[in-house]
Amino acid sequence: MHSNVAKAALVLLVSMAAFPSTLRVRAAADEAYDIAILNGRVMDPDSGLDAIRNVGVRAGKIAAISATPLSAKSTIDAKGLVVAPGFIDLHEHGQEPRNYEFQAHDGVTTSLELEAGTDDVDRWYAAREGKALINFGVSIGHIPVRMKVLGDPQGGLLPTGPASYRAATTEELARMTAAMDNGFRQGALAEGMGINYTPGATHWEIVEMFKVAARYGASVHVHLRYGGLKEPNTGLAALEEVLAAAAATGAPLHVVHITSMGLKYTPQLIAMVKGAQEHGLDVTTECYPYTAGSTALQSAIFDPGWQENMDITYKDIQWAATGERLTAETFAKFRKEGGIVVIHSIPEEAARTAVANPIVMIASDGMPITGAKVHPRGQATFSRVLGHYVRDEKVLDLMTALRKMTLMPAQRLEKRASVFKGKGRIRVGADADITIFDPARVIDKATFDDPLQYSDGIPFVLVNGVVVVKDSQLVDGVRPGRAARAPLAN
Ligand SMILES: [Zn+2]
Repeated sequence: MHSNVAKAALVLLVSMAAFPSTLRVRAAADEAYDIAILNGRVMDPDSGLDAIRNVGVRAGKIAAISATPLSAKSTIDAKGLVVAPGFIDLHEHGQEPRNYEFQAHDGVTTSLELEAGTDDVDRWYAAREGKALINFGVSIGHIPVRMKVLGDPQGGLLPTGPASYRAATTEELARMTAAMDNGFRQGALAEGMGINYTPGATHWEIVEMFKVAARYGASVHVHLRYGGLKEPNTGLAALEEVLAAAAATGAPLHVVHITSMGLKYTPQLIAMVKGAQEHGLDVTTECYPYTAGSTALQSAIFDPGWQENMDITYKDIQWAATGERLTAETFAKFRKEGGIVVIHSIPEEAARTAVANPIVMIASDGMPITGAKVHPRGQATFSRVLGHYVRDEKVLDLMTALRKMTLMPAQRLEKRASVFKGKGRIRVGADADITIFDPARVIDKATFDDPLQYSDGIPFVLVNGVVVVKDSQLVDGVRPGRAARAPLAN
């Protein structure tokens, strides 16, 4: 048996060598690409290309963008479809296989947990290496580091004990600074911060944390100290704190979910970010396209005063496990038990203003799937922007929307992690992270009532040149996602 195989191989080698050279060249040209995406409307926010092109993919990279036909081992007919860079989600707390499946159906090829982050960067990446459907990445998180150093009960995403309410001692502050520094040396993409959840952190502690990020050229992704309307603890005052920290330390600042921080004052917060940019600060922001937020009911956000501050009451809060709206009684009961709620607090006008604004990136703030009525944003943010806000409501054009979900997030991170120079673009040499959607059909299906639904109208998604969604179905058995990580340091 073995000798027969060897003999057959030898015959094959001899016959290949005997081929006329023109034939061999022809054979090589026929297999120039692994995949050819044919006749799609290629849209690249970086170069501005918006034209019918063929895209050749080879060895995980974009190898050709051509107006002439390409041949390949396999082809995708993209006639009538948009061929766009894969979407980069800067803010997704759900980092489990099920979340990646929902995100792939929503066109996301890189999913990043940059707000909460982790206290153990090495372990976080190791847990996903070789096992992920899409690319993944994480920040070193001030919240989990503070929970560890100040001795909060471990396990939850958010603190409820000393890490929430107590100021750090000088010695604890030094330990936190060292832990943040260690996270960066392990390749954390950014620094995460949720000051709203750690009101015990002094203004100086925040400055100290920004100083660590500045040393690594890393952006600080901040959930502001206050998200509300009542002076003096408004979203605007909270934005002032971190603008000052960025200015004083040189660390780039990224303000997360600006709509749930600003509520009806969202336009003023965006104006502050834009003004800071115009005066030379490296400041950016993001939003999700919904009129509700979501967080843990036991967190400091629901400390006394929340109703006046967010201009809402019990009935505006929805218990994620069941979908029921709360009363004073169930609020008290569930706050003691702990769990995730959906908070209907963001005016439609605020969501629309942020989605339409060209300087505001799109990011989902998706949640781990903890109940039947989890917030739909993690499943459907990107298709909702493209279908509802671009096509149906016409609040922004398609290229601007794509820029906000591809090029801008890549540019936010590329100074810290050069892997992002190859993402967010359709150009030769870029990673073949590609989302192919039907602009006439793309739409979110996940709703507050029925949130665990795949988005529609995104028939093909490629991650590092591997098809993960084909004809709108997940492909079985592929795990092409790679670590999106900054260089390690000693
Ligand atoms: Zn947040």
